[in-house]
Amino acid sequence: MVVGLAIHGGAGGDGPWKGPTDLDPQRIACMQSVLTTVGSMLQDGIDALEAVTIAVEMLENEPLFNAGIGSVIAADGSVTMDASIMRGSDAAAGSVVNVKRIRHPIRAAKMVLDNNWPVMLNGAAADNFAIKNGVEEVSQEWLTTDLRQAQWKKWKDAKSRPGSTDEDDEAILDHDGEGMGTVGAVAIDSKGVLAAATSTGGMTGKPDGRIGDTPIIGAGTWADNRVAVSCTGVGEAFIRTCAAHEVATRVKAGDSLADACGNMLDMVAPLGGRGGVIAVDSKGNIAIPFQTMLMYRGYWKNGEVMTGIGPDLSSH
Ligand code: ASP
Repeated sequence: MVVGLAIHGGAGGDGPWKGPTDLDPQRIACMQSVLTTVGSMLQDGIDALEAVTIAVEMLENEPLFNAGIGSVIAADGSVTMDASIMRGSDAAAGSVVNVKRIRHPIRAAKMVLDNNWPVMLNGAAADNFAIKNGVEEVSQEWLTTDLRQAQWKKWKDAKSRPGSTDEDDEAILDHDGEGMGTVGAVAIDSKGVLAAATSTGGMTGKPDGRIGDTPIIGAGTWADNRVAVSCTGVGEAFIRTCAAHEVATRVKAGDSLADACGNMLDMVAPLGGRGGVIAVDSKGNIAIPFQTMLMYRGYWKNGEVMTGIGPDLSSH
């Protein structure tokens, strides 16, 4: 049985690829460590659901990605995070929305899944559920980094639209455009079970109460017996197209995985949601296309690790 893992750290930006910023080596190193660590765990027999949870937890731990510590800052100055997870074999799903006091939203989403019912928990109730079940409690100050504060201040001073500063690495090199930084993982395990997980702080300057696609099963995250999918981009367009589920619908109808992902992105783009997607199918095929300037992404397959930001991938 083929086992495989793909991850992303968000897509964004317009125009031609300008090369990495000074902060990008740290992001690449994080992705390599996730792929190497969780790839070998999958080879050793860990299940797909735990694999995507651990992969996303490791990405949440990296302050330069927009999830967990280092999440972007909302209009009111707070950090609020969304996450969801799904297992393909039995359509089990869990999601937390607008959590503010936990280190690992994805672990909380997995606990919601393990609890069987309900599928989604919101706000303070989701934080309380997670903390009661052992997810590490953290403060808003702990979650907030200087980089995100600088982006938020820039957003506020310019009265920009939400998301406009999300890829501005302290103006070291502005990837300009709607940058993201959301993280996600998809995996197939040694039993052929597929799973997907996605976690985000949303978009800089998002209004109070805004919910993106990331915690919505079928929009940002989907897994069934054919495919596991995690999306990134302007969430509203992914919600309006049921984007992650759209990939499954197209695979079911006979599209190759690559075509299904590409066609879904073509559907999302006209609604203002250019972005990217990672997906794995039941044969272990992996697709990681994006329509933005960049997408932090990588995969592990048969011991091979590939990562990239701009158009090209490199092996490690
Ligand atoms: N999709 C996320 C949201 O709209 C943002 C992202 O992918 O970076 O909240």
